[in-house]
Amino acid sequence: MKNLKDYTMEELEVLVKEELEEPKFRAKQIFTWLYRGVSTFDEMTDLSKSLREKLKEGYSTGSLAIEEKYVSSIDETRRYLLQLEDGNHIESVLMKYHHGYTICISSQVGCAMGCAFCASTRGGKVRNLTAGEIVGQVMTVQKDLGERISNIVMMGIGEPMDNYDQVRKFLTIVNHPSGLNIGHRHISISTCGLVPQIRRLAEEDLQITLSVSLHAAKDAIRSEIMPVNRKYPIEELLGACKYYIEKTNRRISFEYTLIQGVNDTPEEARALLNLLRGMLCHVNLIPVNPVKETGFRQGSKKSIEAFQHILEQGGIAATVRREMGADIRAACGQLRAAKGKTEQEV
Ligand code: SAH
Repeated sequence: MKNLKDYTMEELEVLVKEELEEPKFRAKQIFTWLYRGVSTFDEMTDLSKSLREKLKEGYSTGSLAIEEKYVSSIDETRRYLLQLEDGNHIESVLMKYHHGYTICISSQVGCAMGCAFCASTRGGKVRNLTAGEIVGQVMTVQKDLGERISNIVMMGIGEPMDNYDQVRKFLTIVNHPSGLNIGHRHISISTCGLVPQIRRLAEEDLQITLSVSLHAAKDAIRSEIMPVNRKYPIEELLGACKYYIEKTNRRISFEYTLIQGVNDTPEEARALLNLLRGMLCHVNLIPVNPVKETGFRQGSKKSIEAFQHILEQGGIAATVRREMGADIRAACGQLRAAKGKTEQEV
């Protein structure tokens, strides 16, 4: 079965003409239905019966199955374990803010990057998601919610820049006025720092927000917790970030996960300040989410505030990420990891 959500409007026009032998306007009808949220072809009521039958035979609407769902009683954060057509699982998290709903989506099944503190990478990478599976997360959760999702962050399972082409295609699909019509300014993509892809993205000059997972200002520490740093050390990474800012004029958001005794001392804060001084950027401090197998812990509230204070005193805007969905283990990767465990144990 071909997933119709894998197609941009232009590709769907070609498919409609060449594979279905129907006039071009059918593509717009199908595309509109897909992103209005229907999951069966029979709901596409302005298509002829024979076309609907033809579609049922060889194509799918790419709806994902909700395997598990948890709703936080603290802040209404919703956490979904979704099943793909091949039986693999991914996670999406929905957060409610005063300005609307933001969904955090996955880009791969598992991850190859090997960051020491991260639950998503523990079993390695299984495969890339297709563009249709990426946008499918937004559609499935939006349908379940019954309200419009206005913002997307690609900070779930996987490394988006290790799946560049499908992620790029997703950005085209999600932006189309006949579909979800979500502007690129409402989308953030987070990367652990794949330098060639950051430069490639810079060339595309999109209005998305690029988040870069920095987590340390010194190569020795960064290489210890993020193997990617051995290939693309900090100087190269920051070179690519500066190029990105120059090309797009967009502020970069640096993520810095604070791990007690590893990267959270005042000395490390000062090193970070010196590294970023003068850059068009913002630092997002994330108290590490403890993952049982890693042994990493959060520092005290006081040490987190001291770290933030040093950055702000030096003129770098820094915020501490508010923890959401604490009662439902909403940090990425942990649900799928737990699922894997039960599967193995059974
Ligand atoms: N692969 C991408 C996006 C996925 S992770 C990236 O590396 O940016 C989204 C963010 O959560 C990253 O900054 C990642 O380093 C961070 N993260 C992963 N595990 C974490 C944990 N246990 N506690 C806090 N932050 C974590």
